[in-house]
Order: sequence, then C-alpha cells, then structure tokens
Amino acid sequence: MPELPEVETVRKGLQQYMEGQSIGKIEVFTSKLRWELPESFEKNLINQTITTIARRGKYLILEVSNGHCLIVHLGMTGSFAIFSTNGFPKYDNCRRDKHDHVVFHLGNGTVIAYNDPRKFGIMNLIPESELSIYPPLKTLGVEPLGNGFDEKYLKYHLDRRSSPVKNFLLDQKIIAGIGNIYASEALWRAGISPRRKAYRISQKKAGLLVKAIRDVLNEAIKSGGSTLRNYRSVAGNLGYFQHQFCVYDQEGRPCNNENCDGQINRIVQTGRSTFYCPSCQK
Ligand SMILES: [Zn+2]
Repeated sequence: MPELPEVETVRKGLQQYMEGQSIGKIEVFTSKLRWELPESFEKNLINQTITTIARRGKYLILEVSNGHCLIVHLGMTGSFAIFSTNGFPKYDNCRRDKHDHVVFHLGNGTVIAYNDPRKFGIMNLIPESELSIYPPLKTLGVEPLGNGFDEKYLKYHLDRRSSPVKNFLLDQKIIAGIGNIYASEALWRAGISPRRKAYRISQKKAGLLVKAIRDVLNEAIKSGGSTLRNYRSVAGNLGYFQHQFCVYDQEGRPCNNENCDGQINRIVQTGRSTFYCPSCQK
C-alpha cells in the first residue's frame, strides 16, 4: 500500500508530465473505484489546464484552471503510468491494461493512465474553496516533513495516548502519511519497541523518533526518485519501487544495528504486521 514517500514520488512524476498541460480527453473505463466518480468529472476537467499538483498525507491534489481540484487517493494498488511522450511507449487500445480505469489524454499528446487492480482508489472533484472543509483532508494531522511536526508536537500527543506507539503512528489524525512500513522502520531507528505505550515514551526518545520518521521518509523519497529515473524507459509506472528495508518484511534476519546481535521478529498489532528487533528496541 502506498505511503507518503510513494505518493510523493507519484506527485513528482505527475508534476513533470502534467503540470501546465491541458486535458484534451478523458476515457473512463470504470466509473466506480472505491466510490463512483462524480457526475461532473469529465465536464469539469476537459479543456482545463493543470495548474498545480500538491500532496497532503497520502492524497494527491491536482488543481485545474477553473478552480476545481481532482483529489486522488491510490488506495491499495493504484498507480499512474505515462505513455506517448519522449521515451515512453505509445498508448493504444492494444496496450491498454484491463485495470486502466481512467485515462487522461493531454493537449500535448502525453497519455496518463490510472491503473488500479483492486479498485480501492479514490478520485473526487471539489472546488478549491472547499479543500479546507473536505472531510478526508480536514481531519488529517501534521505533515511529518513539514514545520508543524517536531518533538513538542509529538510529545504532546504521545502523552495523551495509551495505545502502543506503532498504532499511534498509524493514526492519520495525528501525523498524515505514515503507514505500516515506515512506522516499523522509524521505530527501529529510534530504538523504541512498537509495543511501548505512547505515553510512556520519554522526551528524549520522542526527539529521536521525530528524526527517525523524517529520515526514513526522506530517504525513501530520494530512492523513489532515483528508481523513477531508471524505470522511465521500461514502462513509466510511478509509485512502486523497491527499497532496502531494515526491519519491514525482514523476519528472522539478523538485526541491521551494528551494536546488536538480535533478530527481527514479526508480531501482529490490530490486525497488521509489525517488524521489530526485541533486543535493541525497548
Ligand atoms: Zn537490534
């Protein structure tokens, strides 16, 4: 499932190919993703120029020249692919994947296909003036790479929660964009057990956790960016790339911490896998 770094990588890719371009035609092959596309979807997007492509948490926000914003959430398996421009294959009906649900034909000939095998993704259209009151965005917590996220903010919220810190980190109302993978990775870096109750984390550890979260996200974005460059000539798919994870999906492997001879364990917390090292995460 894409988390903040994957969505940010998609944003950068789309920005490069869509920003400043007009939308000439939209082909909708499936009108129901997680929900039905809005009725005015094509009418409000066709012949408009894409002015900015932003991100909030795991949501992409594409603003067009008439003031509407296309809100996209990739769900579990959503991705975009680029066609019919320099270095990418030509998009035609033979090449259309059966999971390409919405295909954007830009004024300059570039084609952007939204693909989503499980159809848990979201596409919605709202006026820019309603962004701040749009329910999924309104309730989002701070951006972990933004200025609002610091030791003080984190400690304030940690002190008010008795849930395990891993579950705390997944709460989008506190920090936006962190999912299962980067929660495990950040806790390992900060040397904090995922089972530790939030309010029992010290000021000093909270500071380490802020740094760990920022570092894992920034490194993942960086590696996504470099993978994107290599990947472009293959298919132009944005959003999925292989990272070297230190604990995620590493059950049974020796701990990567050079001062530790522990082994990575997998536990299940509220139905989701958590990977951690019981020897160096306390
Ligand atoms: Zn360890």
